[in-house]
Amino acid sequence: MNRYDVVIIGSGIGGLCCGSILALSGRKVLICEAHNQPGGVAHSFRLKGYKFESGPSLWSGIGKWPTTNPLGQILRLLDEKVELIKYQGWHVSVPEGNFYLEVGQEPFKKRVRLLRGYKSVEEWDAFVSAIKPLSQIIRDIPLLSSSPETTNFLEYIKLASKFLPNIHLLPKLNGGFGDIVDNHLKDPFLRNWVDLLSFLISGMPMHDTNSAAMATLFDEWFEPESYLEYPKGGSESIVKALVNAFKKNGGTINLSSKVESVNFSGDVASGVTLENGSKFISDFVVMNTDAWTSRKLIPREIQREWDPKAKDIKKCGSFLHIHLGFDASGLQNLPIHAIHVDDWERGITAERNVTVFSIPSVLDKGMAPKGKHVLHGYTPANEPWEIWENLNTNDSTYKNLKEERCSIFLKSLRKIIPDIDNRIDIKLFGTPLTHKKYTNTYCGSYGPALSAAQGLFPGCKTPFKNLITCGASSFPGIGIPAVSASGAYAAEKIIGKKQYKKLLKMIDL
Ligand SMILES: Cc1cc2nc3c(=O)[nH]c(=O)nc-3n(C[C@H](O)[C@H](O)[C@H](O)COP(=O)(O)OP(=O)(O)OC[C@H]3O[C@@H](n4cnc5c(N)ncnc54)[C@H](O)[C@@H]3O)c2cc1C
Repeated sequence: MNRYDVVIIGSGIGGLCCGSILALSGRKVLICEAHNQPGGVAHSFRLKGYKFESGPSLWSGIGKWPTTNPLGQILRLLDEKVELIKYQGWHVSVPEGNFYLEVGQEPFKKRVRLLRGYKSVEEWDAFVSAIKPLSQIIRDIPLLSSSPETTNFLEYIKLASKFLPNIHLLPKLNGGFGDIVDNHLKDPFLRNWVDLLSFLISGMPMHDTNSAAMATLFDEWFEPESYLEYPKGGSESIVKALVNAFKKNGGTINLSSKVESVNFSGDVASGVTLENGSKFISDFVVMNTDAWTSRKLIPREIQREWDPKAKDIKKCGSFLHIHLGFDASGLQNLPIHAIHVDDWERGITAERNVTVFSIPSVLDKGMAPKGKHVLHGYTPANEPWEIWENLNTNDSTYKNLKEERCSIFLKSLRKIIPDIDNRIDIKLFGTPLTHKKYTNTYCGSYGPALSAAQGLFPGCKTPFKNLITCGASSFPGIGIPAVSASGAYAAEKIIGKKQYKKLLKMIDL
């Protein structure tokens, strides 16, 4: 029984979306996952009654319908429901002050008025008006139905007719967001704020972040009725829903199954070999691995056909992590999220300048034991791999450096919970080496640092027949909505446009 229609390497959100669409359309699919649980960077782990998250914590556009979020659309197609808890606010600590901020246009404007005055509010209004037509184009072209590799000229014309008055804006969508910011924002706080949001989305500053991704974010976060969604049970619930859809339609997922190489018959991908020597034969292979890992999976003699430029892709930085279990007593109005920026002058990409925290037990009591809270914090994609790569995790040099560099978490946290040090029940620090170990990502990186100023992320095609990619190294790029879309594009490549369109029709797309 080692023969499949498709083998997918990796069970990140991209791989799971791809697999579950393929299984729904009747393909016999095997997912091989290196880790002992599915989800990729979105996996979680349990310790002493706490459920710790390791990756994404900001979710939106999943529970409502219609939605522009490809993951929300895919879950609807799969008929899978996830219980979501709505919330609106997060705690912000920036050099200008500490405050609670709700998503939505008005709360932000109110804060800008307090911090910067009316003139800056006017500037912001003009900026948002300039983005609105871009957001409208995105609403008119659902990402799921517009794979750049399969949309033909006639379909482009059809799509273009929907947003005819704004057609001149189309090139802007593929460019860097910073150009739009430069044209409208002078206020340093506003510019820094947009730079921060861009960095959180792409791991790159605003001039390198894709405008379409930012226009989507503005559409979701700055509308009057905006809200965020926390999946009850954490990101694991999203992963479970996708795995459930995959399995109920006949899919097989093998955990702790690291793929060593993709096998070829001539120049056609024909299966995989695992590190433990097991072989699986398949008509198609999908790699949900990052660009660098994917290259390594291709035998050397075949590899040279791959675009040599792809070898030198710049990578985003890695992460420091903190996982805390702590005493919740007497802590009122704790935010579910908090973001801390130390110094705008150092720039948003500077090491240990930005920390992000998520305390899901504020909304979902099941995430921590009674009377406790669970917290995940990280420095977003700005920890250099190079200072860690040659260290041995058993050596004191590593341990001391870990303590020293991760100390910034508690420093930022004391601004929200002054006596946090006395409340700690469990404390775990993670470094780029930890991140790499549990996510199997190259250098523990967030993904490719492909600047929007230089063009789009590569599509899911490879130079080899029946070998396809999906995930954060493929178009449209990094982030949950993006990798979900890329998983769907990879599935479309295999089932064909006709069957894919039929599936989308089931959810009116
Ligand atoms: C700390 C953090 C916070 C984030 N926060 C957010 C957020 O709030 N909102 C948001 O939208 N996005 C967020 N992101 C980004 C988003 O989570 C990722 O872009 C996305 O989940 C990546 O999905 P993927 O499909 O590319 O696969 P990945 O998650 O990278 O998974 C790939 C899988 O392939 C497996 N694998 C690798 N090599 C092999 C092999 N040889 N054999 C078998 N399996 C293999 C890995 O073990 C892994 O499970 C965050 C990311 C991180 C790291």
